[in-house]
Amino acid sequence: MPLKVHQFPCLSDNYGFLIRDEATGRTACVDTPDADAILAQLDELGWGLDLILNTHWHPDHAGGNAKIKQVTGCQIVGPKEVTRIAPLDRPVGEGDVVELGDTRFEVLETGGHTLGHLSYVDRADRIAFVGDTLFALGCGRLFEGTAEQMWTSLSRLAALPDDTRVYCAHEYTASNARFALSVDHSPAMKARAEQVFAARERGEWTVPTTIGQEKAANPFLRAPLLKGGLGLEGASDAEAFAAVRQAKDAFRG
Ligand SMILES: [Zn+2]
Repeated sequence: MPLKVHQFPCLSDNYGFLIRDEATGRTACVDTPDADAILAQLDELGWGLDLILNTHWHPDHAGGNAKIKQVTGCQIVGPKEVTRIAPLDRPVGEGDVVELGDTRFEVLETGGHTLGHLSYVDRADRIAFVGDTLFALGCGRLFEGTAEQMWTSLSRLAALPDDTRVYCAHEYTASNARFALSVDHSPAMKARAEQVFAARERGEWTVPTTIGQEKAANPFLRAPLLKGGLGLEGASDAEAFAAVRQAKDAFRG
C-alpha cells in the first residue's frame, strides 16, 4: 500500500508534511516548522504521531520537535546537528534505513545548506523529502557547506528516477523562476516559468515537483549546460554550479 502524504503550508513559506504508511497506520512528520500548526493538522486528520524525521537543524525545520514530542510521545530521527537546538532520539546518517511501518526510507547525506543535511528517500513509492537541498527551480543557500559539497548532494538527488516526487520544504518557485529566466533562455525554461507563474496566480502549490521536471529546467542541476552563457568554458561542473549559486545570491529580481 502506498505512502499517504498530507501537505500544508505553514509559517511564511514553509510546507509541513504529515505522512502515513497506509498498510500499518504508522505516521510521521517530516520536519517541525510550527508545532501548533502540525498538532492542529494531526487533530483534524485524527492521526497520532509515531515519528519525526528531521532534515536539518534550522529552527524552521526542527524548532517544533520538543513540543510535538511532549504532546505525542513520538520518536525523533535526524542528523546529529539537530541536537544544537532540539531533542533527537536516534541520530542517523548515510546508508541508514528508517522504517515507518512497511515503508522504508533510505537516508542520503545531502549536505551543503547545512553540513549535516539529510534527505529521506522512499524508493518503492518514488518519494523523496529533500528539506532545503533541492527546490523547484532552485536549491538551498550554502550556509555551512561548500559549492562542491552541494553539487555532489544535488547530483545524488538528480540520479533518482525521473518520476520521483520531490517534496521540498519551501514555496520559493516563482522567485526561483524569475532568476532561472535570467540565466537560461531556453524554450523549456520559459515554458516551465509560465506554468509556475500561472499556478501561483491561481494560488496553487508548486510542490511536489519531480526529478524529471527539475533535470529539464532547474538552472542549478543544469549548471554544466549553462557554462557557455556564463563565460565558464573549461570550468568543472562544480565550478559552474558555484557560479550559478553566486549569481542567485546576488540576483534582485
Ligand atoms: Zn534551512
